[in-house]
Amino acid sequence: MTQPLFAVYGASGCGRGVMPLARAQLARQGIADARLVFIDDAPVAAVVNGQRVLGYTEFLQEEASERYAVLAIANSKMREQLAVRCMADGVRPWTVSADNVVCMDDVTLGEGAALSPFVTITSNIRIGRHFHANLYSYVEHDCVIGDFVTFAPGVKCNGNVVIEDHAYIGSGAVIKQGQPGKPLVIGRGAVVGMGAVVTRDVPAGATVVGNPARLFSSKG
Ligand code: UDP
Repeated sequence: MTQPLFAVYGASGCGRGVMPLARAQLARQGIADARLVFIDDAPVAAVVNGQRVLGYTEFLQEEASERYAVLAIANSKMREQLAVRCMADGVRPWTVSADNVVCMDDVTLGEGAALSPFVTITSNIRIGRHFHANLYSYVEHDCVIGDFVTFAPGVKCNGNVVIEDHAYIGSGAVIKQGQPGKPLVIGRGAVVGMGAVVTRDVPAGATVVGNPARLFSSKG
């Protein structure tokens, strides 16, 4: 019987971080390692970290009952393009999560997420599609996170924060908590620099850096 085929799309830094999580997740489900590959449109080798690397067309040609891919590319615009492409070809979004991720009460997580080790998502949280939460990041209560949002390692997103689509939050950034009915808002496509301490709203497309975070540029 033909089996499903699973892929980590992107065989560079991000993909090599996601692959072990994907492998472990499939092992927990009793699915053989051989059914897991990288996809890369510019493959650097036939095998990376023990896993075959296929071009996208090869991936589509490989025999499979269904195809799943997690988009392991930090650039959110690229993720979106690949999500559209995959959907058109019947490749299903795949969520890959480390086994020690903590998700508490009433968490809605959109399709295609990549959740790294030690990520914590507490209670009453809405998260959109293709979210990346890298090592040790957390999302506290009552946050609303859009589609294609990216957290680098160690992001501290406190309660009552809204993060719009395509925002990128750099490593170690701290986002101050908002208030019920008056959240702190990080606008669409905004970039928060590493280590920034965000104490007020960030306009769409803006880049902020420092402590307290200040405007570095107003368009991404
Ligand atoms: N990539 C791809 N298709 C795309 C865009 C990117 O296969 O449409 C691959 C690219 O060839 C590279 C990886 O994704 O191997 C992105 O790697 P990069 O080091 O730029 O970023 P990161 O791994 O940190 O996201």
